[in-house]
Amino acid sequence: MSSNASKLPWISVAVAREAASIDQRIEVRGWVRTRRDSKGGFSFIEINDGSSMGNLQIVAQATLENYESVISSLSVGSSIVASGTLKASEGGGQATELAADEVRLIGDAPADFPLQKKRHTFEKLREWAHLRPRTNSFGALARVRNRLAFSVHQFFQEEGFYYVNTPIITASDCEGAGQMFRVTTLPLDNLPIKEGKIDNSKDFFGKPSYLTVSGQLEAETYATALGRCYTFGPTFRAENSNTSRHLAEFWMIEPEAAFYELSDNMALAERFIKRLLQDVLALCAEDMSFFDERVQPGLLDSLKLVLEKPFQHLSYTEAVDILLSSGQKFDYPVAWGTDLQAEHERYLTEKHVGGPLILYNYPKTIKPFYMRCNEDGKTVAAMDVLVPNVGEIIGGSQREERLDVLLARMKEMDLHEQDYWWYIDLRKYGSVPHSGFGLGFERVVQWITGMTNIRDCIPFPRTPGSAEF
Ligand code: ATP
Ligand code: MN
Repeated sequence: MSSNASKLPWISVAVAREAASIDQRIEVRGWVRTRRDSKGGFSFIEINDGSSMGNLQIVAQATLENYESVISSLSVGSSIVASGTLKASEGGGQATELAADEVRLIGDAPADFPLQKKRHTFEKLREWAHLRPRTNSFGALARVRNRLAFSVHQFFQEEGFYYVNTPIITASDCEGAGQMFRVTTLPLDNLPIKEGKIDNSKDFFGKPSYLTVSGQLEAETYATALGRCYTFGPTFRAENSNTSRHLAEFWMIEPEAAFYELSDNMALAERFIKRLLQDVLALCAEDMSFFDERVQPGLLDSLKLVLEKPFQHLSYTEAVDILLSSGQKFDYPVAWGTDLQAEHERYLTEKHVGGPLILYNYPKTIKPFYMRCNEDGKTVAAMDVLVPNVGEIIGGSQREERLDVLLARMKEMDLHEQDYWWYIDLRKYGSVPHSGFGLGFERVVQWITGMTNIRDCIPFPRTPGSAEF
């Protein structure tokens, strides 16, 4: 290893591509994306180090000591360290290039490296989830996802919300948001049996336990102490739904705020979504242009439009009327009192509104016990945010803070008070109106990048029948 090279500043490809460092001697480290030899006796090597969509072009002269032995046969996927002087590029397509005085091969990639120049389908790339982050698409997805995660924290911190961590393993089967994965240490081939039933007292926690489907109920305990809090963590649902918008393991952001009514909750959701959009458009411009060009033409225009207008609000009842009089053929019939299907949600947001839409005041019969009952006796103060191409990205509500109403609802739904004793305590001691929602992180990534399948919006998707890597 040359001691000379190691003294140079190591800068990222993203920084090297900016004209600011021109004429400086630098070192870059990354993976070869392409290499071509010029007749003039030099090689163009493009490297990428993950710091940006664009590559850095390295010009390696045939006079370099290892030109014949190494450089002229550098293969796609190899890792290299190159040093030299950054120059304004004479060729089109890039602002700068590195005039190399040294190119060192670190790790060779043989010819069976799967990500050669040829484009692969997203389906194919799922089989190579360990290598797909080295493609333009998945590099961009990773950077956008990273930016969004950071903005989630920035937004809530600036709004005075505290980040709390709710349990991933839960023994209270009280969420009802979806099918749960059981967590157990019981020997499955030799289950302890007592009176003809599985003896759950022998299990690790002394009772059945599950992976969480939502941290909401626990978040409520912190909201009624800290005022405002949010969770951002992994969530699990064992629904056997093989769709392009469901994962078995996904990340959910759940803000919860005391003294917030439904209208405050809706306004928070709108500010939140707009902030995420704004940050990604401003700070991931190159990656977003890629999605606009290669994944969903028109994406950028439609996202920018979202920032300009207030979100439209429609009550569930109004939405049902719109669907009924739409003249549209749906696979599932529409009727007041039934849950809206993805096709209905998408009609409303894509055809009727042409942008994000907040639906509110759903029939209480299709919603969980904790949502606040409205005066009409038929609906609850629920709200969903729907966006084009994806459908629901947020589900939330004002929570029932009145002890007597909550207990009556639980009775109506055959829920046992003793299972929810701590949740009920929140209404016994200093109860306040409060509200919150859950935003599926991958659904937002999907919407913002225009990707058609949610499996490509998380590094390692878990879906029915598939938990590779
Ligand atoms: P859907 O009807 O779309 O399946 P849901 O109503 O069951 O969703 P909620 O319980 O309201 O979902 O969860 C809050 C948010 O979490 C949803 O709005 C969605 O963004 C996200 N979400 C829910 N289930 C999944 C899943 N299986 N994979 C990815 N995201 C999900
Ligand atoms: Mn929902």
